[in-house]
Amino acid sequence: MAILDIVYYGDPRLEKVSEPVADFDIDLRRFVKDLFETMYYTNGVGLSSPQVGVNKRILVIDTSGGNDRSKQVVLINPVIVQESGEQKGQEGCLSFPGLFADVKRPNVVKVKAQDLDGKEIEVEGKELFARAMHHEIDHLDGILFIERMKKSDRDNIVKKMKKMSLPVNKDKVLI
Ligand SMILES: [Zn+2]
Repeated sequence: MAILDIVYYGDPRLEKVSEPVADFDIDLRRFVKDLFETMYYTNGVGLSSPQVGVNKRILVIDTSGGNDRSKQVVLINPVIVQESGEQKGQEGCLSFPGLFADVKRPNVVKVKAQDLDGKEIEVEGKELFARAMHHEIDHLDGILFIERMKKSDRDNIVKKMKKMSLPVNKDKVLI
């Protein structure tokens, strides 16, 4: 298992539309394990593949932050099929370390996806789980949380990101 390098805002891979997964093989399983380890290591509750520089439609979520492994969710090639309600709350993103702002998301989200075996699954979540799925699926389409906040918050976060000197993890091939 390995802790992967997170890529940060400014890296073009965060703004690309990611490719569907076609091979449900051992490499995919290994990669998903690494995504979970990386997410726990960085204290996240969700992590998408493009955030480690791999433009594939893969995401992991654990709303317990590793305290309850039964909460582990892996979504491959996820598609939102239904959303309802609205929630507003502080949100962060591992690609914008330490920065938070209010972001509106649907309160309930229903997603169709595939599991590690390629089997079709359907997952419905509300509140934090819905927020996490919506946020991570956005990543797979190259949409960042700054695009869903009010302009003044976005400007503030972009300014702060530009002041940080974060490592540039370019051209790493991880899958
Ligand atoms: Zn994020």
